[in-house]
Amino acid sequence: MSFQAPLVGQERAVQFLRSAIANDKVGHAYLFSGPVGIGKLALAINFSRWLNCQYEVAADACGCESCRKITSGVHSDIKLIGEDRSVRSIKKADVMELRSWLILRPLEAKKKVAIVDVAERFTEEAANAFLKSLEEPPANVVLILLVHDTGRMLGTILSRTIEVVLRPVSSETIVAKLGPDKGPDEVLYVARRARGSVGAAQELLRVGAFEEKNAIISKAMMSGWACVFTPGAKKDVYKDVLDVAQGFFRDCILVMAGDTSLCYNQDRVCDIRHVVDWVPRSDLYKMIEVIDEALCGIEKNYNQRLSATRVAMIAEKIDARLMSVEQER
Ligand SMILES: [Zn+2]
Repeated sequence: MSFQAPLVGQERAVQFLRSAIANDKVGHAYLFSGPVGIGKLALAINFSRWLNCQYEVAADACGCESCRKITSGVHSDIKLIGEDRSVRSIKKADVMELRSWLILRPLEAKKKVAIVDVAERFTEEAANAFLKSLEEPPANVVLILLVHDTGRMLGTILSRTIEVVLRPVSSETIVAKLGPDKGPDEVLYVARRARGSVGAAQELLRVGAFEEKNAIISKAMMSGWACVFTPGAKKDVYKDVLDVAQGFFRDCILVMAGDTSLCYNQDRVCDIRHVVDWVPRSDLYKMIEVIDEALCGIEKNYNQRLSATRVAMIAEKIDARLMSVEQER
């Protein structure tokens, strides 16, 4: 496994960690927090490199043996646990194994580093076992927890770690990073939908989210929005449709306000204008509200049925309005 994930737009966090190293004030335990795809793992890998580089300041392209091994994921003193994100929980046995690894002296590193990915997956027993390592940290060890929902972490863990918050970066920064290979509408769309996360934007590009959203919008304009919100669809599929619809109806509000420059769907302004011209403003606001509710419910794992019914109801209302316009013509 190699770690080539990009680290973009996190200058404050980088500065904070680098100066801790420069001033010999590196803590025993850190908690990197921020949304999925923002670059927490990339920052942790870079931090491990800076802590162990054979040179004074590890440059981004440093090719020293330590940096090279860490980047390629083969350094014996750097450990990542929880890397398989499809596994639902990190168990006590995983933490006990980590703890017996931590007490061994480093083989080649100045500082051993243990990184726990999506640490909110700790079971209660695992969290309590981990707490022991935080309370009695072995020498020359740095623990890094990567967390996107700090609300799910034990207070006792939060209070014993140094939190480094990774903030969303601007769409412009993401567009610049994604480069000129793709069309400008596509790059701008994924950058805005990724909401400040370079990793998420790259993933959206990779899975062809732009073509997918255009297929959804075209279907909605042709056969109605109610048709695209297929009830009983798989959660991920339904979430994608909601995300696309949220962008589209949010764009409607921008167009109503006379500002198309911030639209997600620069390539669909014509369709958006058509909807804005014929659908009452109150229905558009209501649509955004029920979509937000549904997305929030998915995030919290609530039963989707009720919110899906609400979305479908408003969608039908909007479809009926657009349909009556077609018939009048
Ligand atoms: Zn180096």
